[in-house]
Amino acid sequence: MKQTSKKTACVLAIDIGGTNIKAGLVDRAGVIRHMLHRPSHAARGRKALLAVLAEVIATQTRRMPIVAVGCGSPGTINHATGMVTYMQAHIPGWTGTLLRQELERMAGVPATVDNDVNLVALGEHWKGAGRGARCQLSLALGTGLGGGLIVDGRIFHGAGGRATEFGHMIVRPGGEPCTCGNFGCVEQYAAPGAMARRAAYYLTLGIPSVLAHCTAISAADIIKHAATDHLCRQIFNDAIDGLALVIWNLLQALDPDVIVIGGGLVKAGPALLTPLRAALATYYSPPELAGRFTLKLSTLGDDAGILGAARMAWDWLEHA
Ligand SMILES: [Zn+2]
Repeated sequence: MKQTSKKTACVLAIDIGGTNIKAGLVDRAGVIRHMLHRPSHAARGRKALLAVLAEVIATQTRRMPIVAVGCGSPGTINHATGMVTYMQAHIPGWTGTLLRQELERMAGVPATVDNDVNLVALGEHWKGAGRGARCQLSLALGTGLGGGLIVDGRIFHGAGGRATEFGHMIVRPGGEPCTCGNFGCVEQYAAPGAMARRAAYYLTLGIPSVLAHCTAISAADIIKHAATDHLCRQIFNDAIDGLALVIWNLLQALDPDVIVIGGGLVKAGPALLTPLRAALATYYSPPELAGRFTLKLSTLGDDAGILGAARMAWDWLEHA
């Protein structure tokens, strides 16, 4: 049997998404040696998703032996027990899955699991915009608005793995309905999909906008026209105001030194960051506290989740 030396050893880092599964072979230095992408078939439910995971693990372990698996999944994940405690309807049947145990059975090596956005935060702390931060706050603007908190290099989980669901912080009581069952959650204003949905709704009311000529509205279109189009400006301002309010309140609660904004909207660059900084500056802060945190955009993009999953697996191996 081929022996795996410490120098060449890899962990298998898996990032389960609603659309795709990514699986990277990652060494101790954080180099992604080989990456695999597969459609996740998550909407078909638990059984279909587990079948894709099994195929991905078999393919990658044939390529290279692994010493552990680290895996990020959407939903509330109990890191200690390895169980998916709660997942909304996007992955039917996923709630209650003993994910760690399933992965260990498939891979034949120890596995460790966590929430996908927690691992995006950990990845940025290891290799990206959060390097060196003592208290790093992460907000990921993707399908929804995910959050993560890294304190002294470790993910903050709360009591049962439900911490840092910043997307469901309410910024407008009684506002837009949210998939969580409440009304006025920030992700219903600031997540890219929500911005597009709101714009499409207002167009049906007959509000004039350049977006009326778009076949499929995206958040990028809204940001692009925010300076000149009334509807785009309103939708974008709502997003920025909601985001700034949440960040401001989190600053008071957590005192982070670095805040990392990730997800698809990061491509907007200064068009996102400049108004967000301006909105934060409208809140009063004593001059003595100026510059106590840095607001940054993610530098790892799509690799953040894989690198976070790898880092978690390496940490687990070293501290188990
Ligand atoms: Zn919500």
